[in-house]
Amino acid sequence: MNPVGQLLDLLQASPNTVAFTGAGVSTPSGIRDFRGKDGIYRDTFRGHSVEALFGLDLFERDPSLFYAWAKDFVYGLDAFRPNVIHATLARLEAGGLLRAVVTQNIDRLHTLAGSKTVHELHGSPSLHHCLACGRAYPYDAVQPTAHAGRVPRCACGGVLKPDIVFYGEPLPEATFQAALDACRRADLLLVLGTSLTVHPAALLPREAYECGARLVIVNADPTPLDPLAILRLPDLSAAFAALSAML
Ligand SMILES: [Zn+2]
Repeated sequence: MNPVGQLLDLLQASPNTVAFTGAGVSTPSGIRDFRGKDGIYRDTFRGHSVEALFGLDLFERDPSLFYAWAKDFVYGLDAFRPNVIHATLARLEAGGLLRAVVTQNIDRLHTLAGSKTVHELHGSPSLHHCLACGRAYPYDAVQPTAHAGRVPRCACGGVLKPDIVFYGEPLPEATFQAALDACRRADLLLVLGTSLTVHPAALLPREAYECGARLVIVNADPTPLDPLAILRLPDLSAAFAALSAML
């Protein structure tokens, strides 16, 4: 049987499948990865590394730098659309073949594709909070100002920060716990588009395996868990285009 047929068989035989996704799921949508050899973190912006722009220290000192950089990448409405991988995961969930998506991505594309249970380990700009009073604002309320490159502000005058996990901030505890629980309950874990190098998020697939989940790994580059996988495929877009055609 071809490997995608095997993948479909595994999905149909597993009542509790979870997908664990990384940058490779979104690169076919035109989103550059962060840590790859041509990744966003290799860029500089106004004398700062882009990695530094995601630091809490610099954001609190001068949020205008982050917002000037992010105006298109984070706040360009419709600049990036879900692809066949996001769409197929949403269809699998709707069809009862997938319980949850755990993602390291901050681009909201799983949600935009229609996935309902999405644990965003590194947060997302779906919500913003005022650094002064804590009031919450949804993406749509912030987007016009931020897309113009200006710093969005609360009614109280405080600076709004996206709920993306910045350096210097802990992972969101409730989200991490929910993701951990989902991985521990899983009997099949799809590891998609991630080389499993970013900790502590990368610990979750190992935790799933140790709790009895079978692993399917679809990624261009090798991962440390490859020897444990029941099925290993290199081309994510091709695999999901084929899977989508079989659903
Ligand atoms: Zn406020």
